[in-house]
This record gives sequence, structure tokens and C-alpha cells, in this order.
Amino acid sequence: MNTLLLIDLQNDFLPGGALAVREGDQVIPLANRLMPRFDLVIASQDWHPANHDSFAANHPGKKVGELIELASMPQILWPAHCVQNTSGAQFAHALDRTRIAHITKKGTDPAIDSYSAFFDNGRKKATDLDAFLRARGITHLHLLGIATDYCVLFTALDARKLGYRVTLIEDACRGVNLHPKDVANAFDKMRQAGVEITTSNEILQPQKLQSLQQGRISIQPQTITVPSPMSQPIQLRSMANAGRRRSIISRCRSSTMRRSVTRFEMKVPR
Ligand SMILES: [Zn+2]
Repeated sequence: MNTLLLIDLQNDFLPGGALAVREGDQVIPLANRLMPRFDLVIASQDWHPANHDSFAANHPGKKVGELIELASMPQILWPAHCVQNTSGAQFAHALDRTRIAHITKKGTDPAIDSYSAFFDNGRKKATDLDAFLRARGITHLHLLGIATDYCVLFTALDARKLGYRVTLIEDACRGVNLHPKDVANAFDKMRQAGVEITTSNEILQPQKLQSLQQGRISIQPQTITVPSPMSQPIQLRSMANAGRRRSIISRCRSSTMRRSVTRFEMKVPR
């Protein structure tokens, strides 16, 4: 069964939320468009009690971002977020919840954090997710959500360890990047673990992708997609960043494609 797992698409992880992830809100319309392409949609929900030990506020004198030891592991202290039964813990208001067939709650034990939708961070207790998937014979998961460098990363790695085929929808994820390379490193770790990377375009517009791979270029408002040397499309939401533009142009296979990028850039408002 064609299965999509939505990771933590909750108000507190969106701009304006308690643990806002930059551009987190941009994942929601993509999730809504992707859900109808799957037979089964599952969502994880960070669901902490107010006394959760990952909250800086529960450690007098400690600040957000500091490291403590929790359950014999290093633990980053976060702002209080996704507290059970608060609006911050609810799914994004714009998210179409009608297609979500199952919700896996995580982070409910105050004494240990849970980035992965499968296990707590010490892999001491499992959530209901693996049993739910196995009972339905599901072997392949598509993943999207927030945050790339925490809950998406740990869920993807655990899914691989459990033997699932995992495909990450790259442009439908956003990361925290506490350190500037965290998201890039997360992608490296996932690739090394055998996670396949795709884009929403590949799922929503497979014919368009085919023409891309034949060397033609697809242009949408504010979005340009070109095949990289590894024939994995790279997406740019804006061509305003000259460094990224140069890197894209250097990956274009043909002069026609390079000209298309340059032509397109002139149309993008700065
Ligand atoms: Zn949390």
C-alpha cells in the first residue's frame, strides 16, 4: 500500500509557534496536494506533558539550546512546545485532516524525548507505528514534515533500521538548523542509510519530470527545477541567491538549459 507519513505538522512548529521552524508553513499546502496520491496517510504528533524534561522551563537556571543529560543521553533543551491538548500541539489549521487515517503520538513520557515516530530517543519504548504498519503489510514509506534535522531524520533512520524502504520528499521538509549545516548533514545521514530522496514534483507531475530528464526545463512562478548531475532535481524557490544560481548553472548539462536558467532569472522579482 502506497503510504505517506506526515511528521509533526503541528502549530508550534510553524512560524508564530513556540518552536517555530522557518518556512514550516510552506510544507502544509504541499502535504495537502500530496495526500490524495497515497492510499494511506499517517501522521505523527509530538504530544508532551507540561512537565516534559526536554523543556528548558522545567530546569531552573537552564536556557533553551543548552545541553543536559536526560535518560543517560545528551538532550537539547527546547522551549515548551506541543503540550498535550493545547492549540500548539494541534495539527496546522490549514492541513487537510480528512485523509489522515492514523495518528501516532510521541514524546508522552516526561522523562525522555522522542524525535522518531517509532521509538523514544533511547529506543526503550516503541510507539504504535511499527505494529500498525506491519499489521497492514506496508513495506515502503514516503516521508515529509518538520523538522528535517530532528524528527524527520530520526524517523527515517529508524524506519530503515526496521527494514522499510523509505523515500523522503525533500521539498516538503523544513529543518531547524541550530548549527548551519544540520540540515545538510541530516540529508547525508539519510542517504547513507539508504533513504531515497524525491521531490513533490516527481510525485505530482511524473510526466513533467520525464521531460526534465530529457533535458528540457520546467519553469513555474518562483520555482525552477533543473536536473543535477546525479539526475536528482534541485529546487530553488527563488533565483535571488546568486551563489545558489551559480551552483545550479554549473550543474546544467547543456547550454540550452543554462540559457533557460538565465532567462528565467530575469523574470523573478527580487
Ligand atoms: Zn518535542
